[in-house]
Amino acid sequence: MQNKEILSGKTLTELETTMQSIGEKSFRARQIYKWINKKSVHDFQKMTDLSKDLRNKLTDSFKIKTLEIQEKEHSEIDDSVKYLFKLEDGNFIESVLMQDSDRHTICLSTMIGCPIGCPYCATGLIGLKRNLTAGEIVEQLLWVAKDSEIDLTNIVFMGMGEPFLNYENSIKAAQIFNTELGPEISTRKIVISTCGIIPKLYDYTDQGYKFKLAISLNGTTNKQRDEMVPINKKYPLEELIKAAKYYTNNSRNRITFEYILIKDFNDSLEDARRLRQLLSDFPCKLNIIPYNENEQINFQAPSEQKLDQFVNELYKSPFAVTVRRSKGQDISAACGQLYGKNNI
Ligand code: SF4
Repeated sequence: MQNKEILSGKTLTELETTMQSIGEKSFRARQIYKWINKKSVHDFQKMTDLSKDLRNKLTDSFKIKTLEIQEKEHSEIDDSVKYLFKLEDGNFIESVLMQDSDRHTICLSTMIGCPIGCPYCATGLIGLKRNLTAGEIVEQLLWVAKDSEIDLTNIVFMGMGEPFLNYENSIKAAQIFNTELGPEISTRKIVISTCGIIPKLYDYTDQGYKFKLAISLNGTTNKQRDEMVPINKKYPLEELIKAAKYYTNNSRNRITFEYILIKDFNDSLEDARRLRQLLSDFPCKLNIIPYNENEQINFQAPSEQKLDQFVNELYKSPFAVTVRRSKGQDISAACGQLYGKNNI
């Protein structure tokens, strides 16, 4: 059987080149790009502004859909839905749809597994199987939008994997999401989250991308971060803060730091004070995320009292502090809980 070329994840320019290669005018690429990325259509026969001949020609040589929804779990405590996708090579990934009044956010995966191995994270238990293609990242949004019939308003690259270790494909997917003929989601509503891959932070700054950045901090000393975010041994805390300041100075955008609060590990008043000191001399935001307990991992959530004390100590800071309670805890869809079910 002929191997069909995959069109999901192609930029408009790439699609124009593909159309030219089969003797079609490049404006056809605009029509097809819009059907795929704006309307989540994967059947060429449904692209009604193309001739029958072209639809047949496309059906013979190309395909759009490589991800199948294998399972959906609806949370009973909030409106989140976890999607389990099966990939063409038999691997699985997860994406999460989170709804909050008029804000509809999708949390996307960028890898099957993850090489970083943060001990609080279920994805890290799998290790890295492989990076996702740009198409596999884009398709998560397309098929969730189609299935849910919801207009997605926000995107976070916070699912399985470290986006900055799959840099080109993650950026390419984000660019497709931002295009006028695609989902057209503003750069301000697309957040790329990294655990601190410092050379890529510099590249990202120098390349001038406008998508918002989040950094998982999770500790206030190198000792804590070495344990919680093992890449810290390669890219230590002081270098990370230096790279974050470089980004802030050059992009004029604030970084959001994520801090997963874990009982008896990083939830003391001393931690809060160190955190305040670390982040006080440049514009940034801090998200405190009480740990989501996971049966496979032995960390615990902080008590409400500890959380209050910690946050109160931080409210004296010059930066904005928010407490983000992850959605979908009952369906293991919250931060650090994704693992693609059938992968381990
Ligand atoms: S928290 Fe992020 S970087 Fe760490 S193992 Fe999980 S997916 Fe990878």
